Amino acid sequence: MTRNTDFFDQASTPLIERTKASVQAGFAEAVGDTPLIRLNSLSEETGCEILAKAEFLNPGGSVKDRAALWMVRRAEVEGALEPGGTVVEGTAGNTGIGLAHVCNARGYACLIYMPNNQSQEKIELLRTLGAAVMLVPPAPYTDEMNYQKQAGRHAARLENAVWVNQFDNLANARAHYESTGPEIWTQTEGMIDAFVCAAGTGGTIAGTGRYLKAQSANVKVMLVDCMGSGLYSWVKTGEPVMSQGPSITEGIGNSRVTDNLAVAAVDEAFQVPDIDMVRMVQRMLREEGWLFGTSTGINLCGAVRAAKRLGPGHTIVTILCDAGSRYQSSLWNPKWLAAKGLA
Ligand code: PMP
Repeated sequence: MTRNTDFFDQASTPLIERTKASVQAGFAEAVGDTPLIRLNSLSEETGCEILAKAEFLNPGGSVKDRAALWMVRRAEVEGALEPGGTVVEGTAGNTGIGLAHVCNARGYACLIYMPNNQSQEKIELLRTLGAAVMLVPPAPYTDEMNYQKQAGRHAARLENAVWVNQFDNLANARAHYESTGPEIWTQTEGMIDAFVCAAGTGGTIAGTGRYLKAQSANVKVMLVDCMGSGLYSWVKTGEPVMSQGPSITEGIGNSRVTDNLAVAAVDEAFQVPDIDMVRMVQRMLREEGWLFGTSTGINLCGAVRAAKRLGPGHTIVTILCDAGSRYQSSLWNPKWLAAKGLA
């Protein structure tokens, strides 16, 4: 593959051609163009417009469908993946689900390495989608048994196979530079003061944030971090020093500055404890009828913090990453929550 940094800057030719027809021609075209939804109770509480991209309405059910599609497309364009090949990735879940859908739609096999502490719903869904799932004990990135490292070694042993490497593959951020960012700019008609978002790989915040800042330097990009992650410290001090954890959130937080995070332009950071996230998602269900997942709860808490920092009259956009149905056995299970001290 071409070097990441060069690749991200080639964005003048879109990797995925998108038509504006009212009929979406297949899976790839059904990814993205999600609604921008006003969170009414949060907007009224803060005096700001709190708006959020309904990424759970992507065909694979999460924000990661965009990254999955763009990363597979990159491998095709670069000739790294030929018909009948295998896509291998280490993923906490949603990227794997997106990849499994994209692989079925395009005729590839899909092999996913995953830490064995992730939600049962995601594991079962991956298997239903036809992916081969390898559950491995959680291990830090510095450990050779880390799920990403194992995925990389496995792909290297196979013919016609790619290791997607979502953390350091800039087609991930580019998906958001070419789709999420432009959609938000159009949907807000350019009236946006801040984009607030948690980061796992950093693809969403980097790509979306860079696009929005390229349209208007006044747009502030704010990272909201869960506990047990080093990204709050990274924004504040330049070093990713881990905060006190753990957190029950899935798919967000990181101990290192990935290549996707390295191209992000971030102005501010907030830190949100799990108990605030739990109260937020419960409130969203009770007051507005939404069933959200953990990272969405963190994002909404971040949006409220941003609104309080900026003051009334601002427009703040965040991401509704996935739906609560992926967390019925955890976040939405009262007994499980009580056992975690979060009832
Ligand atoms: N929320 C969920 C539920 C996710 O699966 C992910 C992806 N790891 C994220 C948020 C973070 O997105 P990104 O990887 O683009 O930083």
